[in-house]
Amino acid sequence: MSPEPSLLSHKRSRNTLLTGIKTIVEKWGRSVLDFIFPLRCPGCNKKGTWFCDDCLAKLTFLETFPCAVCGKEAIKGITHPRCQTKYTLDRLISIYQYEGPIKKAIAWLKYKDVTGLAKILANLMVEEVRELGIEFGSKTIIIPVPLHWKRAWDRGFNQAELLARPFGKSLGLEVRDDLLRRTRHTEPQIRLKHDQRQKNVSGAFAVPDSKRNEVKNKDFLLVDDVCTTGATLDACANALKRAGARYVWALTLAGD
Ligand SMILES: [Zn+2]
Ligand SMILES: [Zn+2]
Repeated sequence: MSPEPSLLSHKRSRNTLLTGIKTIVEKWGRSVLDFIFPLRCPGCNKKGTWFCDDCLAKLTFLETFPCAVCGKEAIKGITHPRCQTKYTLDRLISIYQYEGPIKKAIAWLKYKDVTGLAKILANLMVEEVRELGIEFGSKTIIIPVPLHWKRAWDRGFNQAELLARPFGKSLGLEVRDDLLRRTRHTEPQIRLKHDQRQKNVSGAFAVPDSKRNEVKNKDFLLVDDVCTTGATLDACANALKRAGARYVWALTLAGD
């Protein structure tokens, strides 16, 4: 049965409107926001820079990486063989301790569309990935961890994507935001106890049927701003692997 013609045209005009607004925001909104919210260091509020040297020097690198499944220390962030199943995340790397200036920067990223700051943070990620000697295959596809459409619409952007785009550009890797969807709204992980987090996000992500061919046998890197337990990233990996993905790694700017 085909939908009522009026419903169709309503849908179409709504989509056109959405695209129109998005284009305007992309073209003008960011420069307007950058004007309202000028260059300022998230660590100390000093004006004229997105990160002052003092605050940059204060950032703490994570020395150890957790296993995405059990949360215990894992060498180079590679999921323990005993924790690994057909559908788990293969490797998880978080760069900075989630505290101080980085924590503030991430808060800014979530509530203000500060693309200039996102670019700086993405460059820090690139530098650190190089420093750690991590190499991605040239065909690796970067996926920003998706927000539920409603939250993305409320916020107007996805902070994971703000990081993933310049990160991918620097490394010459493709970034795709259409291969993975958040299928239901979930409670923010931070409000939940450790054992509730896995349950909260289990099955919350899916590869659209029309995209499964583009996922099969490919390698992926999930990018997000912060990782608390790895449960969200593991749930993303689960969806990608069920659609036939080969390797799924994850990289976050900060972690606990
Ligand atoms: Zn500062
Ligand atoms: Zn483990």
